[in-house]
Amino acid sequence: MRALTQFFKSLFLLELFKGLSLTGRYLFAKKFTVQYPEEKTPQSFRFRGLHALRRYQNGEERCIACKLCEAVCPAMAITIESEERADGTRRTKKYDIDLTKCIFCGFCEESCPVDSIVETRIFEYHGEEREDLYMTKEKLLAVGDKYESQISKDRGEDASYR
Ligand code: SF4
Ligand code: SF4
Repeated sequence: MRALTQFFKSLFLLELFKGLSLTGRYLFAKKFTVQYPEEKTPQSFRFRGLHALRRYQNGEERCIACKLCEAVCPAMAITIESEERADGTRRTKKYDIDLTKCIFCGFCEESCPVDSIVETRIFEYHGEEREDLYMTKEKLLAVGDKYESQISKDRGEDASYR
């Protein structure tokens, strides 16, 4: 009996029509494909993308070279060297993040007492050489300067806080 059923199924191409009906259903259904990069999916304000170092409104660097971020980084991607300025304050003379090591866990941001190191929403970047993914202090500050308004907005900070 089973063999007979299979025979008729094959004879009338039932499996083929079943497959085609499924294709037809999806042909006219609502599409889920996003036409990236013209279209983008919604992004959380907590997205952990490219890092940035921030400044206060007067242009002073926030980072006080406490090295908490360096200590907490599980990938050991952060390298900091500090120095004392003439006015007695402590600042970094070197602050590097090796993005080829970074796992984007966000621990550095969480540990920072002055909200200096942050992870931005930026994910569209690339490097053609390893060096391109080695973020120096200058590069990190440049990202911070460029995206400060988005960074502070995402963190719910108002202008008076800064
Ligand atoms: S996001 Fe995580 S892995 Fe990357 S630098 Fe920060 S602490 Fe290290
Ligand atoms: S970025 Fe923040 S946690 Fe890291 S050294 Fe500077 S002040 Fe400390």
